[in-house]
Parts: sequence; C-alpha cells; structure tokens
Amino acid sequence: MKILKICILILYSSVALANIKAENIDFNEFDKYQFQFTKSEIEKRVKKYLEKDSKIRSHYKVTKDALYIGDLDHNKIDYVLNFKTKKNQKIKKSKNKRSLKGLKIAIDPGHFGGDYARLEDRFTNIFLEDPKEEIFFDEGTLTYLTAMELKDLLVADGAIVFCTRGGIGKGALDDDFFEWLKKNTKHWKSSKALDHLFRAYYNREDLLQRAAKINAFNPDITLAIHYNTNFTQKDSAVKTNYSLAFVPGAFCGGELDKVRNRYEFLRLLVTNHMVESIRLSENLAKQFVTKLKVPLISNNEIASYIDNFCLKQKDGVYSRNLALTRLVHSPVCYGETLIQNNKNELIRLSKKDTTIDNILCSKRIKEVAQAYYDGIKRYLNSR
Ligand SMILES: [Zn+2]
Repeated sequence: MKILKICILILYSSVALANIKAENIDFNEFDKYQFQFTKSEIEKRVKKYLEKDSKIRSHYKVTKDALYIGDLDHNKIDYVLNFKTKKNQKIKKSKNKRSLKGLKIAIDPGHFGGDYARLEDRFTNIFLEDPKEEIFFDEGTLTYLTAMELKDLLVADGAIVFCTRGGIGKGALDDDFFEWLKKNTKHWKSSKALDHLFRAYYNREDLLQRAAKINAFNPDITLAIHYNTNFTQKDSAVKTNYSLAFVPGAFCGGELDKVRNRYEFLRLLVTNHMVESIRLSENLAKQFVTKLKVPLISNNEIASYIDNFCLKQKDGVYSRNLALTRLVHSPVCYGETLIQNNKNELIRLSKKDTTIDNILCSKRIKEVAQAYYDGIKRYLNSR
C-alpha cells in the first residue's frame, strides 16, 4: 500500500514538474512536508486562513489519506500531499532568531509617488476651509520615506535590509513607465487612457518584480508599507481614523486558477509563513495603536474590502490575497497605518518639520517608522 502511494506521488510529481517547468515552479519543494499533517490539521488551516470562497474547491480536494491540488475539473493534479500516519518522523524546526543582528528584512514601500502619484491615483489633494489651505501629498512618497527611516533604525541594530525600490517615483522594474510604453506598443495602440495602462498593466508587472526581488533576497521577514485612505470620501477631510494589517490567505473564487497561485496556496498551508505573518502583524498592529495613538479598524467600520475579500485573524489583522501577501516567501506584514484624509492626519502629514534622507517631510512619518521598528522588536522578543 505504501509503495503504491509513493508510486502515485512520483507519478503526479513528475507530471506536475513537466507542466510547470516553464513557470519555474517546483512542487517537489513540498516533499519534505509529506506525512507531516493530519487530515484535520489541513482542513482547519484551510478554513481558518485560506478559503474565503468555497468556489476554490474546484482546485483542491481532501480525501481520507491526502490533499490533492490542481485543476480538478480537468483532471490535472499539481501535487498530492499525503497525511500523517502514526510513525512519521517530524521535521526538525530551525531556531528562530530573536535579535535584529543578522536578521534579513525586506521592505516594500508601496506605490511609486512623485511624478506618478496622479497616474497611479494614490494622492491626497484637499482644500481645507479651516485653516484655509490646499493640501497635497502622495502615498508613494510617504511609504518611501518611512522605509528609509525604518531601514536606518534596523541597520543600526545589525539587521540586513533590502528595499524593493530606489527612490520617490521609482518602482522595481528597470524601465520607467514611459520606457515600458515604448517597448509595449500594443497597449497604447489600444487607445486606452494612460492612467488605465499604468494601473492595469505596468503596476501589475511591477508588483511581480517586487515579489521576485524580495524572494531572491530570501528574507526572514517582509514588510509592505502603506498608508490608508477613506476612498468613499477621498476629496474631503474625514473624522474616521484607524490602522490595520494584512497577512496572506483568504483566496476568493477564481484565485486558484493559475498553477503559480496553487503553489503559493500549498506553501501557505504547510510552512509556518501564515502563523508567523499573523504574529508579526499582531505585534505591529499593537504598536500602531500605542505609538501612533490611532485605533485599529473596528468591526463596525464600513469597509467593503473587509467583507468581500478578508478573513479576520486577530484584532486589526486580516488575511487578504494581495499580490505581495501571496507571492512573498517569508512571513509578511502588509501594514496600512492611519487614514491619510483624516483631518488631523492630513494636516500633520503635510507639514515639513523634519528631514529623512535630506528630504523635507513630516515628523509623523518618523513616528510611523518607529512604530514598525518597535513592533518588529516585540515580535522577535515574543519568539
Ligand atoms: Zn497603498
């Protein structure tokens, strides 16, 4: 019986390998997780972390003995993960680092900012009545400066930090948007608007490149830095203010159609990345409250993305299947601190009362970087 199972496994593995070599995905990386989990452990993990919509069940199946993942409607199996039997040997867990010295940390400052802020639609431009003034700033600049400040704090403690982009208005691709347009004529020949081309094509490619660069760095933890906005009242100052953090998981209908995404689903199921992402994010979220004096998002907050795309893991910590949470191969926290168009925040954020990297900016950015830094230290001490 056991020999038969192994034969089936080898057969499926080699079929999977042939299908996906082109995409550089190797499901055999999961062989070390064979016979490590019981059926109920796998079912619990899928329910708690990964399944937002039962439609994804056309791409995985749990039987008495194993988990099957693939395009099951078309009898294509990517991988079979056999469940634990009594005598199986456990994988030795590697020791977690508890100090910043030598810890590899990847930081992705969200968006581009600068010249691209309007094309990517990530800016705040509000005319205040009292005090009478026009306020303008963009998220990509805030995230980049936050990352630079945080990097300095972490490097001073011996951490090895990699940042996905090298300046305001820059992404992770070598080509800027206009160079990219020259090489991708089919897009602008379609006479779609520039902002659409930026968001629907260039930005997506850039996100994949960010994830690829992070994975090549092989970090211990990854932080994606964002600032939140109340989009329903984007052009006015709002009273509401809150922070939250996203972690991987919460796959919706259609989101396991690609082999790449099924690989990531299985990775999240068998590695410690889910649990560690939640612990990291929980520690960061607590610091967002104490250091920034901003509450976590409440259950009553009307944010459609929470209902439609998220699974709540802890207060202020939600699984959400974003490119950067799905594709990064380490524990990850995708932070969304404060609401940029909250009246107090937008006045604070528009001030130029300090500098980071010789760039005049708001002290509030340094407070946000400090909250991330303190959260990481607490996370390490809790391991
Ligand atoms: Zn953002």
